Amino acid sequence: MQHLKPQEIEELKRILLEWRDRLIQETRENVGENLSFSGSDEIERAEAETERILTLRTLDRDRKLLKKIEYTLQKIEYGTYGICESCGVEIPFKRLVARPVASLCIECKEKQEEDEE
Ligand SMILES: [Zn+2]
Repeated sequence: MQHLKPQEIEELKRILLEWRDRLIQETRENVGENLSFSGSDEIERAEAETERILTLRTLDRDRKLLKKIEYTLQKIEYGTYGICESCGVEIPFKRLVARPVASLCIECKEKQEEDEE
């Protein structure tokens, strides 16, 4: 039994798909910039190196986020979306709109964060 209304799922799916497209677009742009660098100056090269590291870090973060979005979209297909993966409680629509990739309810999320400390 899915507690989310079909139109709510549609809306969340739309948010996720747009988010995914934006991330893919950003990743492409970052990679493009990275490859187009051809400066020879020492300082320029150092700056480019810093830039490259920052870009890679962003790419890594984006890649993880993309994976999470893909995973979430899959859960929508399987009808398991919006259910807390830890305790099985239904995650409210409001929380999902704020954080569409949420896989835990607020209580479990807080507990997990306490554990991590
Ligand atoms: Zn929970």
